[in-house]
Amino acid sequence: MERIYLKKEYCCGCSACYNTCPTQAIHMKPDEEGFLYPVIDQALCIDCNSCVNVCPLICDGNYKEKTIPEFLAAKHKSEEVLMNSTSGGVFTAISDAILREGGVVYGADYDDKFHVLHKRAENYDQRNRMRISKYVQSNMGDIFKQIKNDLIDKRKVLFTGTPCEAAGLRGYMGNSPFNENLYICDLICHSIPSPLIWEDYKRLLEKEYGGKLTSIQFRSKIMDWSRENSNKTFIFTTSNSEEIHNDERFYKLFFGEKTIMRPSCEKCRFTDIHRASDITIADYWGIEKYAPEWMDKKGVSVILINNKKGEDLFKKCSEELKYEKRPKEESLAEQQRLSQPVKFPESRKKFWDDYRKHGFEYIIKQLNK
Ligand SMILES: Cc1cc2nc3c(=O)[nH]c(=O)nc-3n(C[C@H](O)[C@H](O)[C@H](O)COP(=O)(O)OP(=O)(O)OC[C@H]3O[C@@H](n4cnc5c(N)ncnc54)[C@H](O)[C@@H]3O)c2cc1C
Repeated sequence: MERIYLKKEYCCGCSACYNTCPTQAIHMKPDEEGFLYPVIDQALCIDCNSCVNVCPLICDGNYKEKTIPEFLAAKHKSEEVLMNSTSGGVFTAISDAILREGGVVYGADYDDKFHVLHKRAENYDQRNRMRISKYVQSNMGDIFKQIKNDLIDKRKVLFTGTPCEAAGLRGYMGNSPFNENLYICDLICHSIPSPLIWEDYKRLLEKEYGGKLTSIQFRSKIMDWSRENSNKTFIFTTSNSEEIHNDERFYKLFFGEKTIMRPSCEKCRFTDIHRASDITIADYWGIEKYAPEWMDKKGVSVILINNKKGEDLFKKCSEELKYEKRPKEESLAEQQRLSQPVKFPESRKKFWDDYRKHGFEYIIKQLNK
């Protein structure tokens, strides 16, 4: 097999193909925008087609639920959890349920240089590192293989990630008899920004503020949790001082301009009410209009219960949450990614041309104009 995907738009970088290849003929390589794509070593490839058979973009229809989910508004009862979560802290509640039963949790974490990557958590400390959205594409590495091994060992497993990663895992697991203990939670996902721009952005902050980055938090609640304000906060510290800095350029660069998203996001097949997961979590945008009694500026989640497994998982943690059923129309009106993919601006090509020609600092100066 020469290549798995025909165009970049048809590869979401979930790494299902890399994880499944029986001869290790596939490795994931970053392109000039920093996104990982599979590359096949022809000398090792035995043309078995396993990579194509697990690809969530080639076989997407098979992985989506057919029924309409149930929609809930929810928030964690613990103030500590709320203040250390992006939305209403539902990730902590559902992952607690799995950890309590001796299970393992997979989600996005940082390494010591703040690269974003998926990791495995067996205890609360490891799980807490997965809290808070990291708005950069996560490197999945061999996580799907690790998940299968945990399932073979009869552990309960919770996987959390973007919709395409969730679909990639469903593709990778296929009809495995070990699926019974696997719970998949995805996010409503706007689109996924470039790890290369993330590297440049971190370097720029270190240059401007001095020292090395020592902590980072996307979308903090220091102002409040609201559509208007939480996007204005990107807080960090560096080794130079204990001062907490906020950089407002983050949102414009990462989401406002829509120029640094993965090409496949514009063709995303998972911006749909029919999910490729058991349970879906996101911000309950618009709650202040529909149910103002819920709005306390500390975060409210929307939960989509997509099937019986999602219902079972929710029941395991419902004691920790305040929740109520809500009409699906509210989230359909507020969350574009439940009905259509992101649309890139015409300036996307110019952005990358300028980046290659003039470098990142030039790009940042253009943003400020
Ligand atoms: C790239 C991205 C785009 C998003 N777009 C939207 C949107 O358009 N609308 C909306 O309402 N919500 C969106 N979300 C979801 C939202 O930001 C929260 O992650 C979600 O509501 C969970 O919040 P929480 O309080 O329950 O948990 P938190 O404790 O904040 O949990 C964070 C969860 O997100 C996962 N995660 C964090 N970073 C990544 C990553 N880079 N890749 C994969 N998984 C990750 C973790 O594994 C964990 O499960 C997006 C999240 C991401 C990562």
